[in-house]
Amino acid sequence: MTARFPDFRLGKVLATSFTGTLSERHGDPVERIPTPARLVDWLAVSGLAVESATASQLERARELREAIHEAATAAARQEELPGAAVQVINDFSVRGRASAVLDPAGGREWRLSAASAVEDALGVIAADAIGILAGERDGKLALCASPTCQAAFFDTSQSRSRRWCDMGTCGNREKKARFLANQRAGSDDRPR
Ligand SMILES: [Zn+2]
Repeated sequence: MTARFPDFRLGKVLATSFTGTLSERHGDPVERIPTPARLVDWLAVSGLAVESATASQLERARELREAIHEAATAAARQEELPGAAVQVINDFSVRGRASAVLDPAGGREWRLSAASAVEDALGVIAADAIGILAGERDGKLALCASPTCQAAFFDTSQSRSRRWCDMGTCGNREKKARFLANQRAGSDDRPR
C-alpha cells in the first residue's frame, strides 16, 4: 500500500530529517509526505506516533517544514535568520504540549496528548529545530553539495566537513558521477 510512495530519508537529527521529507528542492522535488497517512508513518518512525492526521494538519506540517528549511539554510550560510520563518517555528513550539519522559531503559520518549497529538509532535520538531538553530548542540548546519538538493543538514562529524545530506543518495550519486567522469577522461582525451 505504501510502496508506491517515496521512501523516507531518516537522519539522526529530528528537525533536519523532517526537512528531508521534501528533497531535490532545486531539481525535481520529491515529496516524501504526500498524504496525511505518510505523515503519520513518518512521525511513527521518528518516535512521535500519532493515531491519524488530517489534510490540514499535513498542510501545517509542511508549513513548519519549510520554515525550518528556510531558517536552517540561512544559518548554514551564516545569514540573518528570516523573521517570518522564525515566527512560524516559535508558534509551533509554543503550541506543542508534548512531555519528555524516560523509558525503563533510560531513553527519552515523547508523550503526546490524545487530543492534539499531531500539534504536539510538530511542537517537538519545532523545539528540536530551535535547539539546533540556537547552536545548543554539538554540530554545524551545512548545505548539501548536490546542486539539485542543497538540503540543510546538521553536520556532527568531527572535522565538520561532511558534504552531503545523505551518503546513501546524494553522496552516492556524486561519487558515481565522478567515477564515470574519470572513466571517460581516461578513455577519451578530447576536451570536454
Ligand atoms: Zn542532498
